Amino acid sequence: MECSSSEELKQLVKEAKKQTKFGKVADYIPALKKSSPHDLSVAIYYPDGICISAGDIEQKITLQSISKVLTLALALMDCGEECVFNKVGYEPTGDPYNSIIKLETSHAKPLNPMINAGALAVTHLIKGASVKERLGRIIEFIRELAGDKEISYSAEVAQSEFETSHLNRSLCYFMKQDGIIEEDVEDLLELYTKQCAIEMNCLDLARIGLIFAMDGRDSVTGKAIMPVHVARLCKTFMVTCGMYNASGEFAVRVGIPAKSGVSGGIMGSVPNRFGIGIFGPALDKRGNSIGGIRLLEMMSERYKLSIF
Ligand code: GLU
Repeated sequence: MECSSSEELKQLVKEAKKQTKFGKVADYIPALKKSSPHDLSVAIYYPDGICISAGDIEQKITLQSISKVLTLALALMDCGEECVFNKVGYEPTGDPYNSIIKLETSHAKPLNPMINAGALAVTHLIKGASVKERLGRIIEFIRELAGDKEISYSAEVAQSEFETSHLNRSLCYFMKQDGIIEEDVEDLLELYTKQCAIEMNCLDLARIGLIFAMDGRDSVTGKAIMPVHVARLCKTFMVTCGMYNASGEFAVRVGIPAKSGVSGGIMGSVPNRFGIGIFGPALDKRGNSIGGIRLLEMMSERYKLSIF
């Protein structure tokens, strides 16, 4: 797929890049330390299949928390709304994404599917006879969303996270104690870390953002990849909890459904208009791409993106 470089986007990226010196690349997953903090790239994908970009959009990034939206969609299709929300709630937390604190007061039911505890509970619901089969289903689904059959996961990043996932292990054991999670914790962690390590470039990310923007339909092929209510539900969580505990401020300043990950990726969906994929590994204090946030603020102002 060709994506033409846009002068206007290049200017915005150049301006937003000035923020990257105030950010820091995630280092709690050792393999992520290798990213260069000053990178920043963006792709915009329109419903007619046209794409514009700025920066190195060929570079691959791991999805990390962005995968949480995609497994939520698959779990909703696998077992339905009632089954998913039996395990996880609807409310934003205001706490960091990996916090354990509210699990105690919520009887282990995580407050929403975008924090780590909630995402682990959702991944637990993905159907399949083995970790391998479940991972295969997640990857197949993501390949269909992105229209890219090459998508796979980084074994290096997955292994690096698996070995250092002490906090996520704790979240799992806490939830196992309360019956939210019933499977073997190591199996669930293997699946979750591989899901987080699924790799793609900004263009794929923008294309997936577009599918959500178009309520689950691939506007290029005309195929409905997920039911409208599933796409809308996912977009709602992107608005309320997609940008960690900065989601409120992001809603005010940018105003679009978006999901970020600690690798520095951001997937944005501008309803009925376009999908956005951003990569900028330097993060702000709350874990969002610092250059990516600035870029989206400028794009929102210039292209009148806010849905509010
Ligand atoms: N794999 C990461 C973790 O569970 C994802 C976190 C994120 O991107 O927010 O810690």
